[in-house]
Amino acid sequence: MTQNSNFRIVPLPTEVAEGARHAAQAGASDHATITVDSPTGYPCRHCLQWAKPGEQVILFPYASIPPGRPYSESGPIFVHAAACPRYAATDAYPNEFRRHRVLRAYNASNDMIDAAVVDDAAPESAIERLLENPATAFLQARSVTRGCYTFRIDRV
Ligand SMILES: [Zn+2]
Repeated sequence: MTQNSNFRIVPLPTEVAEGARHAAQAGASDHATITVDSPTGYPCRHCLQWAKPGEQVILFPYASIPPGRPYSESGPIFVHAAACPRYAATDAYPNEFRRHRVLRAYNASNDMIDAAVVDDAAPESAIERLLENPATAFLQARSVTRGCYTFRIDRV
């Protein structure tokens, strides 16, 4: 599928996923290994797929907005406990997360300036609308219910 999208999906960097796996193996108290018990409860931020029941995931805190700013934020995310391929179709919105997401818009200073719920809507049009504001530097897709960071969307 070829798209002329004006955005790029940015999954969790592989080094962050690998670091979480190593920390969990080393017994870090803020890294938990969990066996998945629901088909849509544990989104892996590295491959951008729902982890399947019976698979193991690592739960750990991730600073999606780094420290030192008013909107600095660290929150819980999952990655597969076993190695998985990083999401590669970065010019296409990941199909697994077309529902139950909210998009947050941030400016170049990491300040949140807008947000939109994409439930039951085409996320591409919500992305396009948020990027129409020239102050928007990047977006974050998050769970609409628990608010957990899912992935980042950069302007191309
Ligand atoms: Zn994964």
